Amino acid sequence: MARRYAPRFSLPDDPKPRTHCPYHDPPVELERRELGLWCPAGEGYPLFILRQEACPVCRRNLEWDGGCFACHGAASGERADWCFPGQRYDRYDDDGQPIGDGQHWVKTYGAPNRPAINKEDFTTGMAAIQRVFAAKGWWKR
Ligand SMILES: [Zn+2]
Ligand SMILES: [Zn+2]
Repeated sequence: MARRYAPRFSLPDDPKPRTHCPYHDPPVELERRELGLWCPAGEGYPLFILRQEACPVCRRNLEWDGGCFACHGAASGERADWCFPGQRYDRYDDDGQPIGDGQHWVKTYGAPNRPAINKEDFTTGMAAIQRVFAAKGWWKR
């Protein structure tokens, strides 16, 4: 299927695929790894690289956080079943500090199939929202 828009992080006027990571002086040659072109100097995937890993549910490309924008990792389509099917990569840590130079996706949390939502919290939260909406007369069944 033809893409109707340029993939994120690629440069529209860049006619040839990148072979070197520009975040070093001199630029470093990229190596082909499992998820795309990997930079040995940054010990990660440069930020403009599209992750080459298919979602196990819908086969679209996964995001770097391991999530899938298309199906949210849930074959059921139910929000309560959303998960991150892939391993997580980050450029910033939880305190907002860059990992390395912040220009490379670095693996931070290895476990695939992390639940996106705590099912118990989701059910309790949904019930609370429904109660409020029902009280205001916004909830129609
Ligand atoms: Zn690099
Ligand atoms: Zn998917």
